[in-house]
Amino acid sequence: MENESHISLVKVNKSYQEGDKERSVLNELELNVNEGEMIVLLGRSGSGKSTMLNLISGIDRPDSGEINIGGTDLAKLNEKERTLFRRKNIGFVFQSFNLISTLTAEENVLLPLKLKGIDDENLLDKARSFLEEVGLGDRGDSYPDRLSGGEQQRVAIARALAHEPMLILADEPTGNLDYETGKNILDILNKLVRDNGRTIILATHDRDICSIADRVVELQGGKLHDVTEFEGA
Ligand code: ADP
Ligand code: MG
Repeated sequence: MENESHISLVKVNKSYQEGDKERSVLNELELNVNEGEMIVLLGRSGSGKSTMLNLISGIDRPDSGEINIGGTDLAKLNEKERTLFRRKNIGFVFQSFNLISTLTAEENVLLPLKLKGIDDENLLDKARSFLEEVGLGDRGDSYPDRLSGGEQQRVAIARALAHEPMLILADEPTGNLDYETGKNILDILNKLVRDNGRTIILATHDRDICSIADRVVELQGGKLHDVTEFEGA
């Protein structure tokens, strides 16, 4: 529908049971994201950033509220439907890379393409071209344990983008990397996301990262606040 946000979270609530008490993490949370936007989601450790990304990716389910992604309300889907939706529409970059150790770099990038059910002879070329884009064209045969942290995260970025998802979610993607490597990873991620016109929500506790954002929102007390003062696009 026209004028409808690409992604919208409406009155999202999520709490966790802590002993016999309930601990509210997200409280009537609202967010609208336009197509092609680069959002940085700021928040201190424990503020609920991962919880929020897990709801947006459909890994987890809100207690109440709507999670609309490109016109689908994830809260209405069952677990299997959410998994299929995620495979098709979402690319995830994790803090700890999460590559499959028994697969080569190339096979790791190929996996989401296969899971999405894309069956064409150009699949391998596609995986290779994404590895080239992250500067690892010559490392396709390497296993993750032969790659540095920064290289593993570059493979993970290629994997997150290769199946052309409408939305990329990145959860502290530089959290396990040194400063220079982290900066390099952000540059690559930013360029690839923008070149391909993708929407991205990147969670971090690091305010220095805000400079790559179109818009910064901060998670505090279970709600999102706009951050207007940041050096950025
Ligand atoms: P962040 O990613 O911002 O560091 P999280 O979303 O991981 O924050 O966690 C937010 C809060 O929810 C924390 O207090 C955490 O302990 C709690 N929490 C997260 N996941 C669970 C879970 N599966 N069970 C119980 N509590 C959880
Ligand atoms: Mg987290």
